[in-house]
Amino acid sequence: MTEDTPNEIVVVKSEQSKINSVDFSNLIFGRVFTDHMFICDFKDGKWQTPQIIPYQAMTIEPSARVFHYGQAVFEGMKAYKDENDDIFLFRPDQNFKRINTSAARLAIPEFPESYFFDGLQTLLKLDKDWIKPGVGNSLYVRPFVIATEPAISASPANQYRFMIICSPAKAYYNEPVRVLFAEKFSRSADGGVGFAKAAGNYAAQFYPTSLAQKKGFQQIIWTDASTHQYLEEAGTMNIFFRINDKLVTAPNNDRILDGVTRKSVIQLAEDLNIDCEVRRVSVEEIKSAAKDGSLKEIFGAGTAAVISPVSAFEHGGDVFEIEQMEKDSYASLFKEKLLQIQHNLSEDPHHWRYKVK
Ligand SMILES: *Cc1c(COP(=O)(O)O)cnc(C)c1O
Repeated sequence: MTEDTPNEIVVVKSEQSKINSVDFSNLIFGRVFTDHMFICDFKDGKWQTPQIIPYQAMTIEPSARVFHYGQAVFEGMKAYKDENDDIFLFRPDQNFKRINTSAARLAIPEFPESYFFDGLQTLLKLDKDWIKPGVGNSLYVRPFVIATEPAISASPANQYRFMIICSPAKAYYNEPVRVLFAEKFSRSADGGVGFAKAAGNYAAQFYPTSLAQKKGFQQIIWTDASTHQYLEEAGTMNIFFRINDKLVTAPNNDRILDGVTRKSVIQLAEDLNIDCEVRRVSVEEIKSAAKDGSLKEIFGAGTAAVISPVSAFEHGGDVFEIEQMEKDSYASLFKEKLLQIQHNLSEDPHHWRYKVK
């Protein structure tokens, strides 16, 4: 069945939903995808008519530039459902802006705002049964753009594909993570692409992260590439340090991803009268705070896990354990506040919720 919606997205519905074959109580993150996907090609200098079609494998030539030069950027956002079956996104304007900032850095053409929001809303409404109500349940939404032009000359492509796929996600209790402060490898450098959600930033982290995992640390906290003395971010999450009752986080720069969760935590801290300093944080400062007992918490902030507490860090061969607070931790406070806003269970003074219409 093909029909044109008023906003001129061509919709082809799947004949049969896969939803009954999915065990929603046993979801592994990012393995199962909903019935439909959004797809829009760029060619002849413009974005073509967007389509929503059944989720399926697709044919791309082996010479497509994305396979050779990594011209690919993505986003990560979540959709939530409240008890009235209304669907919400959290600050999607930020994701829209950021995918185009990322795209510009990788010489990918910008995607039009109306296509993004109309596509997203049409897709979410079509696959609404995949979004389960209840705090912590969500639908992970993955917009991305790849260079599809079949030509392996090393220059920007003339053809791209913008897509959105969705994967149901469960409310996991996330175990605190043990992290390693980077001393040798770097994730990003001055003037590079660290601030962009570029696929290659992830590829570059897998090897050092696997070495860290062999030593018993799940993640790396990246430090500045030139001196390795300043703590930057965790590679899928921005990072906050609590020293006594004060929060500290690194300022954004071209090496650090400008996280939506990070900026929301900074705003919530202000609302709650929690002192939050946005400034450089040195490895030495955190090590001495750990030694003198003033380091109370470290936590990561990102869409996937919302807030992830850190239970230990390693640097220069020394391991510092961070005792987990039983109550009044900032990590659980911010997580709770964010989830309440996201699930339409609290006031939303900054208008972060976006209702899908
Ligand atoms: C996506 C991402 C984050 C978190 O950003 P959110 O907008 O909060 O999800 C942090 N760091 C990196 C490198 C990322 O790719």
